[in-house]
Amino acid sequence: MFRSIDRFRKAHLYDYHAGAVRAWVALVAWGAACVLWAIGSLVGQAADAGGFAGSSLGQVLVGLALVALAAMFPVLIPRTSYFIAVTDIFIFSLLAAAGPAAAVLAAALDGAIGTPRATRRLAPRLSNPATAAIAMFVSGHAQVGLQTALQGQGLSPMAATLTSLCAIAPLYFALSTLIPTGLLSLKQRRRLDFAQWWRAYAWVLAIYLLSAAVAGVVHVNAQQLGVTVLIVGAVVCLSVVSLLRYTLNRAEWERRAQEARIAGAEREARLNQQRFIAAFTHAAAGMAIVGPAGRLMQVNRALCELLGASEDELLGKAFATHLHAGDAELFERQTADVLRHRERSFSIELRLLTRSGHDRNGDIWASLHCSHFDDPGETGTCLIYQLHDISSRRLAESRLQHIAFHDGLTDLANRHFFEQRLAVAVERCRREAERPFAVIFLDLDRFKLVNDSLGHVAGNHLLREVARRLVDALPPDDLVARLGGDEFAVLLEGPGAPAQGRERAHRLLAALGQPLVMHGTEVLPAASFGITFSGDGPRSVDEVLRDAELAMYAAKDSGRGRVLAFDSTMHDRIADKLALEADLRRAIGAGQLTVMFQPIYDLEPYRLYGFEALARWVHPERGAISPSVFVTLAEESGHIEALSAWVVEHAVQQLAAWQRSEPRFRGLCMHVNISGRDLQHSRFVTHVQQVLGRHGVAAAQLALEITETTLMGQLDMALAAMHRLREAGVRFSIDDFGTGYSSLAYLGTLPIDSLKIDRSFVMHMETKPQNVEIVRAVMNLGSSLGKRVVAEGIETAAQLAQLRALGVPSGQGFLLSPPLRADQVPAALVQAAVFWS
Ligand code: C2E
Ligand code: MG
Ligand code: MG
Repeated sequence: MFRSIDRFRKAHLYDYHAGAVRAWVALVAWGAACVLWAIGSLVGQAADAGGFAGSSLGQVLVGLALVALAAMFPVLIPRTSYFIAVTDIFIFSLLAAAGPAAAVLAAALDGAIGTPRATRRLAPRLSNPATAAIAMFVSGHAQVGLQTALQGQGLSPMAATLTSLCAIAPLYFALSTLIPTGLLSLKQRRRLDFAQWWRAYAWVLAIYLLSAAVAGVVHVNAQQLGVTVLIVGAVVCLSVVSLLRYTLNRAEWERRAQEARIAGAEREARLNQQRFIAAFTHAAAGMAIVGPAGRLMQVNRALCELLGASEDELLGKAFATHLHAGDAELFERQTADVLRHRERSFSIELRLLTRSGHDRNGDIWASLHCSHFDDPGETGTCLIYQLHDISSRRLAESRLQHIAFHDGLTDLANRHFFEQRLAVAVERCRREAERPFAVIFLDLDRFKLVNDSLGHVAGNHLLREVARRLVDALPPDDLVARLGGDEFAVLLEGPGAPAQGRERAHRLLAALGQPLVMHGTEVLPAASFGITFSGDGPRSVDEVLRDAELAMYAAKDSGRGRVLAFDSTMHDRIADKLALEADLRRAIGAGQLTVMFQPIYDLEPYRLYGFEALARWVHPERGAISPSVFVTLAEESGHIEALSAWVVEHAVQQLAAWQRSEPRFRGLCMHVNISGRDLQHSRFVTHVQQVLGRHGVAAAQLALEITETTLMGQLDMALAAMHRLREAGVRFSIDDFGTGYSSLAYLGTLPIDSLKIDRSFVMHMETKPQNVEIVRAVMNLGSSLGKRVVAEGIETAAQLAQLRALGVPSGQGFLLSPPLRADQVPAALVQAAVFWS
């Protein structure tokens, strides 16, 4: 029993202290006693009246039903949490009509039905009906006593009823509100605050007074007019309450729905604002809101970082002050456009100025997007800027652009860039005659030789040095480009170009003329220059470059290291050269070529050593053409292989014929000139071996002459073929020795037998002492390397004497014998035989 009481206390009175629990239990017990009393009293009355039919019990039950009905559907007072119900009218009516017992039950019933609407707890659900029962028990009895007393004073029963009902209404009010308020104060251990109580419940007193008065009036009318009034009154009351309840509840529902909508919208707006602030603040892009006056109103963290300034430094300032001067004007113009035509936005890439001390170097490039919006808080259009740092993209782009338009080795403009600029110059000159231009085309002389003999690293070094000299020698407005390989070009523009072109080319010639020492070798980076002017006629870019190049080739042909301006006859010369090339191809096949043989002699003792085969071409229309012309032509046009093959065949065949006719001549040697290109093909090796075999000539009697220049140019490719031929017994001789850049250290490793001192050294021996020294040096070199030395171009007896004195073993030259036709040779052989013994 105690345990279940304790369990009940813990479950339902957990926040009641012991005194409050006791008060609550007493209250509920007293209320229950009142209810029991009421039931007993009503049952007793019915019994006294001789049963249910004779008693007013039916009337009481109807009244209780009305109370229950009214209690279930109270009317909420709009904009408050208070309910009003007509139950009180019925309770007071029951009090007047059926006495305190019925009213006690009605009050308890009203409390029992109404309380669950306000709370889920069992404690008030029990204590509230109990309070109502007690309050009505006391008030009901007071009303009966007062009514009796008033009637005793002579008041009519109806007036006494009305008066007493109204009089006890405050008592009923005081009890039914003070008891729960007192219990709450006790529970919370507070003193009862009457002022607060009055503020909270004064309206209840008004309801009770009104209800008592209405109940009294209805009761009086019912006494006079019968029970119909009661029924009509009840129905009207319930109808009014229902309508009122429907209308007010609906209005209240709509108001609450509206309030909920407004609250929802406000919450959403608040969330949106918070989201916007978060997005704005934490955005990776720099963002700014700019007011109608063009001042920064709001900036985010990313923008501060981008500009290297604090928020305080930025706010209120014009954004354009942070822009590079070159970009500010365009930006402001576009901004003004957006403000004028409000539907437009724009994007722009511009440079930002950052505060000094900012940790970034160079320009900061940003892409800026500007759009507008109407700010409700501002009178006018506001702008929103979004900025992204694109510096790294810009840097990469400019690097790529630089790479695309510049030569990687020299960092000069490349052909692509040069052609673009030239195209602009050509077009400009076409439109405006006073905007002439000049193009200088230059090609290094003998660059290939340096590259091949000193190596690619030295070649690159030379190209860089040339580039540097060109740039240093020219004003910055002239465009210098490397077109490829060892070809460079300069573009001059402006009114002075025609006059300056030649002067600039000569200036460059002089600048390049200074020697350069590489790997201990002195190199002269000379070049040949061709110039063409816009005045040479209207041409395309390709044509301008072609003409400048033609002029350069003409300069090379006319002796290198000089400047030539283009003239239209150069085209004719090219056409002429092409025609000659075609003729040469035919000549090789058609037997127009012949071979002359120049004897080579041992100088001490003087005797015939052999011959050098020298090709001759007598053109049917043009007459004799110098081998230096047609051999170069054959090399350029790819006919050299056929030429060499033919000369080798013819010379070996001739040697075999002479050897057959004069057995004493079997020891003679045949020198044949070949080109470096011949050695690039193994079929040349096969051809030589076949020719020797076919004519029965010993390989050791054939010496292949290759010039120092071409050998050094093709060394890598030539070596394999040289070794194969050398293994077969064929000898090699380096022709024109001393004119190239042979690495002397390398010379000893080459499969060569003899060195032919270039005739330019021999020819000027009498006048140039240093030439004697060169010949002496070649002699020393030859003897130390075990190479035979042959002197070319001996024209005077003095030269011969000097060569003999220097110990040069062999030589050839016009003094000893000019080149001879094959049919002239036997006589020479016979003459030479004088010296043999
Ligand atoms: P090279 O091999 O140095 O030939 C010697 C050149 O000097 C020949 O000129 C010859 O006629 C010339 N000469 C001989 N003695 C004297 C002299 O005392 N004084 C002067 N001033 N010149 C003399 P050529 O025949 O005009 O040949 C020129 C070059 O053409 C040759 O120079 C050689 O490099 C090349 N060449 C000639 N024939 C052939 C050939 O069949 N094949 C190849 N690949 N090149 C050839
Ligand atoms: Mg030769
Ligand atoms: Mg020579």
